[in-house]
Amino acid sequence: MSEALRDQHGRSIEYLRISVTDRCNFRCVYCMPAEGLPWLPKQEILSYEEIVAVVRQLAPLGLRRLRITGGEPTIRPDLPALIAQLRAVDGIEDIALSTNGVRLPELAPALREAGLDRVNISVDSLRPERIAAIARRDLGFHPERALEAALAAGLGPVKLNMVVMRGVNDDEVVSVAELTRRLAVHVRFIELMPVGEMAHLTDAHVVPSAEVLARAASLGPLREDAGPARGNGPARYHRFAGAPGTVGVITPMTHTYCGTCNRVRLTADGRLRTCLYGDHEVNLRDPLRRGEPLGPLFVRALAEKPLEHELLKLRVGGLRALSQVGG
Ligand code: SAM
Ligand code: SF4
Repeated sequence: MSEALRDQHGRSIEYLRISVTDRCNFRCVYCMPAEGLPWLPKQEILSYEEIVAVVRQLAPLGLRRLRITGGEPTIRPDLPALIAQLRAVDGIEDIALSTNGVRLPELAPALREAGLDRVNISVDSLRPERIAAIARRDLGFHPERALEAALAAGLGPVKLNMVVMRGVNDDEVVSVAELTRRLAVHVRFIELMPVGEMAHLTDAHVVPSAEVLARAASLGPLREDAGPARGNGPARYHRFAGAPGTVGVITPMTHTYCGTCNRVRLTADGRLRTCLYGDHEVNLRDPLRRGEPLGPLFVRALAEKPLEHELLKLRVGGLRALSQVGG
């Protein structure tokens, strides 16, 4: 690991989340207002060539793993073309995608062909009417079909992310956990973060992960587990005896995991964010467009990466919606 890629607290940074669009075909209740957000004009968004140029400059500093996210990345035209260009950058070992899964049955083979390694799919319910109610769009999303398409294309290990909301979908924790006994899928229950303008979702909707695990354990004992072989993020995993999949929890509300944070984010308009919360960001797009080197800016940004996020203290921390910063 290059010393340049250690932040001021000694955490090594080798993982970049890249938001390729701020737009989405869903309007999930916890993520975006029903009317959408003030979308970025096209000229402000990094082109695929510019995204690749950023990654090419950061890879020699130790960047190894990428996650493509948004907004909804699969609505940007010709996403496989970006994946193929990123795959060709020396030093990049792993490329993952976070998606709502709507377009996966159609896109999974081309994405794999282009060099994508694996996917995370957001699945907040297994019931069609409830999926449409949470997403505030009925696009015929069928979670098991998306999962099968991803597995058939070789995009594993596949992770399913469910944001658990009390009184909205928490009655499905057991049925979603049950999938891991039948399928090689890694479910992650995410604690709802009541951020920004989604003020209708409050602390009362947060279901602590300890409670989620206790409910899942009604199916049988859960043992701590290392989780899927690839992708080491903030989740803590468990497994039912003999199960092909695992049950994970991500706990932004009841624990912080900032001490092991190994990630930074690139927004769709080319800002490097060193922390999900607050306003620690550096504009890489304009220097890139002026032909200036990005390495020194990256090193300086890391020197300022905060020790931990302030969501628990500030509640909103300047964050309006996760779709704006790539989740
Ligand atoms: N559209 C893609 C998707 O839904 O997976 C990628 C972007 S989305 C912003 C990334 C992740 O952030 C999703 O797993 C989503 O569930 C999560 N997320 C968004 N808002 C959230 C919130 N308020 N609390 C917890 N998780 C949230
Ligand atoms: Fe779109 Fe993903 Fe946000 Fe849902 S969570 S509105 S799918 S960006």
